Amino acid sequence: MIQRIDHLGIAVRSIDQALGFYRDALGLTVDHIETIEEQKVKAAMLVVGESRLELMEPTDPAGAVGKFLETRGEGLQHVAIGVDDLEAALAQARERGARLIDEKPRVGAGGALVAFIHPKSSFGVLIELVQRGKGSVAHG
Ligand code: ZN
Repeated sequence: MIQRIDHLGIAVRSIDQALGFYRDALGLTVDHIETIEEQKVKAAMLVVGESRLELMEPTDPAGAVGKFLETRGEGLQHVAIGVDDLEAALAQARERGARLIDEKPRVGAGGALVAFIHPKSSFGVLIELVQRGKGSVAHG
């Protein structure tokens, strides 16, 4: 059911500035940049083999990433794990006592289905579960 680390989400104040390191100094390729209104972020997906890095810049300081930057500063914000069946993965986590942020899958970056698990359940790391449709893999 678990496939791989789909991506790591990194909160940044400015994607343009962060690309100066991740793209230019480190040499990663930008797959695409998109604004995810629902999550109040602009996100840049960088290709790292089969996985991705997601640089997230808040579009609204009141959103989750905006608040994260305010309290924790820039850095690793979430770990995204790819699953075959998000509904089943959520049901299992719920059954075993995990505190879910999303009771149901919703549409995230690249049109994938996503759901978040509260860091209180996962020892301090926000976990995102991601289910990608076949053919959407290239879209980060
Ligand atoms: Zn993510």
